[in-house]
Amino acid sequence: MSPEDLKALVRSIPDFPKPGILFRDVTTLISDGPGFAAAVAMLSQRVEAAGAEAIAGIEARGFIFGAAVAAHCGVGFIPVRKPGKLPVPVLAIDYALEYGTDTLEIDPGAIAQGSRIVLMDDLIATGGTAMAALELIRRAGGVVEEALFLVDLPELGGTSRLREAGVSVEALLDFP
Ligand code: IMP
Repeated sequence: MSPEDLKALVRSIPDFPKPGILFRDVTTLISDGPGFAAAVAMLSQRVEAAGAEAIAGIEARGFIFGAAVAAHCGVGFIPVRKPGKLPVPVLAIDYALEYGTDTLEIDPGAIAQGSRIVLMDDLIATGGTAMAALELIRRAGGVVEEALFLVDLPELGGTSRLREAGVSVEALLDFP
């Protein structure tokens, strides 16, 4: 299956979650067996090339791709969670949204010091979420040299922000 075939499986929903936003919905790709398998295989190739020891995936759709790729590659999966979900003392970071702030948390004990971690999410837009996750993983002692996404919205600049932070970024699909 080609990247163009995968792209055709992503549904575009106008005015969600707010008027004026064109939401790229990857759940239609996930629910297509051959499409999901092809996406996981393509992402896994990049994780293997990066020599990653673990994948950190961002809640919630980053869990779906990240966990599948981790199992495919035989590496561990570290959940980057929304607040209040982890049952242990956490490292937390607040980050800015268009309106207000949000928080991400990780269990610092899940990250081996100096381990090579690939950061994953379904989609990167402004990069605020991925930058916050990157900061958390680095604070916990992980080394992130690579970030992987199914979809990039390049006009929103997120991949540039990550690259400026010293991370190599790849996405299977982009929607200019
Ligand atoms: P960012 O922080 O602006 O890069 O937004 C990325 C985060 O918001 C990711 O966790 C995505 O899952 C979610 N997100 C933002 N825009 C979309 C979209 O169009 N479709 C699906 N998820 C989105």
